[in-house]
Amino acid sequence: MENICFFRPKWVASPSSSNEKLTPKSSERRGKNSKKKGEVDPVEVYCRVRPLDNPDDNCCVKPLSTTLVQLIPPENSLAVARNGQIKEYQFTFQYVFDEYTSQKAVFDYVACPLVDDLLRGKNGLLFTYGITSSGKTYTMTGSPKDQGVLPRCLDVLFNSISGVQAKKYVFKSDKMNGFEVQSEADAMMERQKRDIMPGITTPKTPTTHRRGNFGDQERISDPTILSSVDDDNQYAVFVSYIEIYNNYVYDLLEELPYDPITGYKPPQTKILRTDSSDCMYVMNCVEVEITSPEEAFEVLFKGQKRRKVAHTALNAESSRSHSIFNIRLVQAPLDPRGEEVLQDPDKICVSQLSLVDLAGSERTHRTKNAGDRLKEAGNINQSLMALRNCIEILRDNQKNSSNKMVPYRDSKLTHLFKNYFDGEGKVRMIVCVNPKGDEFDETIHVMKFAELSQEVLIARQQQVRFDIGLTPGRRKMNYKEKFKSEDDLCTAPKVPAFDFSLGPGFPPFELLRSSDDIVLPQLEKFLVERQKRREALQLDLDRQNDEFRAQLVEFERNYEQAIIQNDELQQRVEKSESYVQKLESRIRSLERRMEENSRNYKESEKQKRELEAMIQDKEVKIRQEKSEKERLRNDFKTRLDMNNQHWERNLEKERQKIEQDYGGQIWEKQHKLNMLRNIVNEGDSDAMPAPQETFRTPAPKTRTHTTPGKLLSARSENDMRKIGNTPTPRSRTATTGTSLSAARANLKPTPRSTSNSNTPKPTPAYNPRHRRSRSSNAEIWLDHRPQGNVELDTVLQPKIKKKKSVSKLEVKDTKEASKYMLTHQDMDSEDNLTTKIYKGECLPTAGGGTAVVFNDVETLTQTSPGSRKRRSSCPQPQDFEGDWTDVEDRCNVGIEGHGNARKRSKPLPGTRV
Ligand code: ADP
Ligand code: MG
Repeated sequence: MENICFFRPKWVASPSSSNEKLTPKSSERRGKNSKKKGEVDPVEVYCRVRPLDNPDDNCCVKPLSTTLVQLIPPENSLAVARNGQIKEYQFTFQYVFDEYTSQKAVFDYVACPLVDDLLRGKNGLLFTYGITSSGKTYTMTGSPKDQGVLPRCLDVLFNSISGVQAKKYVFKSDKMNGFEVQSEADAMMERQKRDIMPGITTPKTPTTHRRGNFGDQERISDPTILSSVDDDNQYAVFVSYIEIYNNYVYDLLEELPYDPITGYKPPQTKILRTDSSDCMYVMNCVEVEITSPEEAFEVLFKGQKRRKVAHTALNAESSRSHSIFNIRLVQAPLDPRGEEVLQDPDKICVSQLSLVDLAGSERTHRTKNAGDRLKEAGNINQSLMALRNCIEILRDNQKNSSNKMVPYRDSKLTHLFKNYFDGEGKVRMIVCVNPKGDEFDETIHVMKFAELSQEVLIARQQQVRFDIGLTPGRRKMNYKEKFKSEDDLCTAPKVPAFDFSLGPGFPPFELLRSSDDIVLPQLEKFLVERQKRREALQLDLDRQNDEFRAQLVEFERNYEQAIIQNDELQQRVEKSESYVQKLESRIRSLERRMEENSRNYKESEKQKRELEAMIQDKEVKIRQEKSEKERLRNDFKTRLDMNNQHWERNLEKERQKIEQDYGGQIWEKQHKLNMLRNIVNEGDSDAMPAPQETFRTPAPKTRTHTTPGKLLSARSENDMRKIGNTPTPRSRTATTGTSLSAARANLKPTPRSTSNSNTPKPTPAYNPRHRRSRSSNAEIWLDHRPQGNVELDTVLQPKIKKKKSVSKLEVKDTKEASKYMLTHQDMDSEDNLTTKIYKGECLPTAGGGTAVVFNDVETLTQTSPGSRKRRSSCPQPQDFEGDWTDVEDRCNVGIEGHGNARKRSKPLPGTRV
């Protein structure tokens, strides 16, 4: 059979090659286990905008392109009331058909590929979705002159399988959603049986053929022929028509029970079942085999008529029900001789196209129904809500890789089409839109849901193919099939001419007399010749037979070889296919690697450039730093030189000052010596010479048990040292809160009267005129008796009203005291103990500390008359390791708290007077 494709839309895949045959396995035929991971298709949603009933009506829909449509809310819409402004909405779909798009274009674009799939053994589901009066039924069914999707599907299907259709009843339903195959003879018997007793075994097929009619009207059929049929298959078409109303399933092809009194009874509800391949089907649903579109229309009209009757019986509203028209195409391969369908149920392939005209999607309040109607509207919404819910969960599962259960069982509608969403076929939806402004608020919901549905991905059903090892082109090879008509026989090639006659006819053999020597010899000669000719013909026949047999043997041998070669070729093809697949995957991985490498290369180039730029920057910085360092070095050198000069000058000054100090000390010692000499030479009043006049400042008077004299400045240490013969303190004042060196620095500049008058006078660290309260009551003495001092046990005791005795000086103690006294003991070689009390004023310093200005020394000398023996038995203060001999040290330790004093290892054992 030659297939002619009058119209071949671009999406139609090229006809399967002769090697691609339908799969024999029923499970594969239904798409089970055929889902290859990763091959998915989205739910394809198309939008169709119908024309306005009245061109003056307000229009709220505007197709912007072939994929984009805009909705503009009218002023009286809820959306405007809610938002307070007109906000436009845009929706993207697979394709947007405007109001001028013809039924043919919609079919060609949306439904024709599904018919093509059907012929290739794949399933398809097509919904029309939208509010009531949006054009769903028009798109699905249309009118006789302008047919919708459904009649066109039937036209194209029968156009395509014409010539390869199986005889009626060759395929028979097994009542379990599957099919059986029977021989043509059995099928003929069944046909005759049904003609005699119609409707016994299976429901009666409509018999009235109104060729070319659509109901009562003349119809214009679709001429499209698809080339995806396989010549070596036989095809049969079965249709069923059901309705889901109030979440109940009704069979529209079932005879309604009729009561002569009450009229038609309400139809029985059907239940959904799962078949052996896990596919959903309506149990006990009438399925009619049809051999032409006209028969299909008969079924359709019959169903629609029953629908009306049922709706009257059920008091139902037609726009509230979902109607489903199922087309099932059954195909099976021809036997090896190309005469009949192969009698193997496993080789049957069934594909299904479900065309669903959904109920109006508007919400309940719009229906203005009461009672049953309200309930029914609610149920419709429930079905559509369930569909919506399932689609949303499917989408979420796919987006988030979650595994939430899809509630298909929530409604009959979703339960019936569960398999499609699970990947058993392609799903398409036509969203019908009424552009009337009043419909905006309902339409917007429809559009949102429809747009969202496109995000659901459905596993792609694989190309159904199988190879049962039969030679392709069997139908063409079948002589009977090839020359089945008289005309074909007339035009059939003639057998090569061969003279099979036994020669000329008998000569006249009427005997005139018994010894007729003319007729008899002629007859004898004729018979001999005829005998010879017969023998020659027999020989020729035998030869030809032998030749033919030899040819036949040769042909069979060739045929077997060809089969072997074919097998080998197929194996090779399979091998090379797998090799090609491997190569392809390798190419893909290489391409990926190349892309990655080029990406990496670009990246590293970029990094290299960046690094180079960084290096340049760094080099510039290093150069800058070098020059800066050079500059700093020079600067530093200059400053160092200046500092050195400065320090040299200072040192020189210091040296001169020390020289002057020592000069003063020598003078003082000289003076003391003179005084001592005077005392020694008492009586000889003019024995001692006067002090030398070389010192500018005379030494202060020495006192023993003196009354408090005038305030001694910090530099009067020499006086104190001289008077008490005490060790020289390193500093005369001590500060708290600042370091000793700082205190020294503060005190050092206090000029002696003998110092160079040119030396600048530094700011004192304390105010010598500042006095803490001097009232005798407020005066607090800080009595500092370092550890190791022996008890005086003298009759004469210092009289101090308020005092605080400490053995070690703390900063906080100095804060409270206004006067300070330090007890120091010395023992001379005669074992005489001299106790000196150094007295001073506590003055607050600028740094927050306290400065002590010593201004008086009281000396108590105790002379011991005792023997050496007794004395030697008592340890002396100086016997102790690290005995303090330095007043300053003790002050420093106490006041600064540095803890650098030499600690006594032993306690003072007792007091010696
Ligand atoms: P629904 O099934 O959605 O309730 P229908 O298909 O019954 O709506 O359409 C309602 C009316 O609009 C019908 O009279 C139909 O002929 C008309 N109609 C719908 N779509 C179109 C279209 N694209 N072109 C012309 N008329 C249309
Ligand atoms: Mg309708």
